[in-house]
Amino acid sequence: MPRPLIATIDVSALTHNLKVAKSCAPNSKTWAIVKANAYGHGLARAMRGFAASDGLGLVEIDGAAHLREMGWQKPLLLLEGFFDPSDLKFAAQLQLETVIHNQQQIDMLRTTPIAAPLDIYLKLNSGMNRLGFAPDQFRAAYAQLRALPSVRQIRFMTHFANADDAANSTLPMAQQMRCFRTATAGLEGEHSLANSAADLLHSDVAADWVRPGVMLYGGSPGGNTAIEFGLLPAMTLTSEVIGIQHINVGDAVGYGSLFIAQQPLTVGVVACGYADGYPRHAPNGTPIMVDGVRTRVIGRVSMDLLTVDLTPIPNAHIGSKVILWGDGLPIDEVAQSAGTIGYELMCALAPRVAIIEIG
Ligand SMILES: *Cc1c(COP(=O)(O)O)cnc(C)c1O
Repeated sequence: MPRPLIATIDVSALTHNLKVAKSCAPNSKTWAIVKANAYGHGLARAMRGFAASDGLGLVEIDGAAHLREMGWQKPLLLLEGFFDPSDLKFAAQLQLETVIHNQQQIDMLRTTPIAAPLDIYLKLNSGMNRLGFAPDQFRAAYAQLRALPSVRQIRFMTHFANADDAANSTLPMAQQMRCFRTATAGLEGEHSLANSAADLLHSDVAADWVRPGVMLYGGSPGGNTAIEFGLLPAMTLTSEVIGIQHINVGDAVGYGSLFIAQQPLTVGVVACGYADGYPRHAPNGTPIMVDGVRTRVIGRVSMDLLTVDLTPIPNAHIGSKVILWGDGLPIDEVAQSAGTIGYELMCALAPRVAIIEIG
């Protein structure tokens, strides 16, 4: 029998969450973002769950090829574009759309013969200082691209640093929007600005295409909880208690003896550790559920195991069901306790974890 650790992926939750994304931006088309193996949920499942999207966006060209092999015929968008001429040729063969964010990519487009012209997104750095052309280089980049026979449709994109905190005093969302409006004024082509946070919280920036990611998997991008946004968790990570220890005052648990009992206590040992994607830095007190009851992680998370306080579950036994995150225990709460975000936990789900698909 395999280990009892299982990630259950609910395809109907993906479909539901896509509906939420679309209802927040009813006049926009949707790029469902499926990078990082669909945030850990699997490309094949995402393809089915997001069948009603207008296209899928990702950063991995091999993932895009896999989606084409599996029969995805709608648009696919490479969010970081291509990295060398062979990628560019391959992207054209697969009829991918691509972001163009630096001069090297324009130069490759100019010098690389490709099978068919490409639809592209020209990306603006509107203040986040990650990818994109600076505002004062944007129009020159556009002019170069417009002159290339290998470029068909040109659209425009930027990305928000603080859509979950629009009033952020260092880089307010409104400042990035002004920058984008100025850079694109008078240029013909569709616009795409919104990630999940902007889609959920700022319908005024939905524009022609939204680009939701984490919300589609039932994670909150911030600003509100997933439940408040009406999102359903697509991934539920479950395991079982496989060991029980009864300890006394002063006894320690696990590596580094990070937890020391203040009273006699029953410890449950759960088959899940950091080699499965559970965060090692989750401290004492991180929420976890045993037989439907919330309790806390105690002691250091190790490679294959973690330990929990069974005090609130007196009838717990070997084989008791454990929920690490998902249905009944929001991934964002676990992430927050561990000092990270739900995104990171989803993406880190390890290949050794068995997956069951429902919905
Ligand atoms: C990942 C990504 C998104 C989705 O972001 P979420 O916060 O997960 O909604 C949107 N646009 C781009 C360019 C991305 O790389």
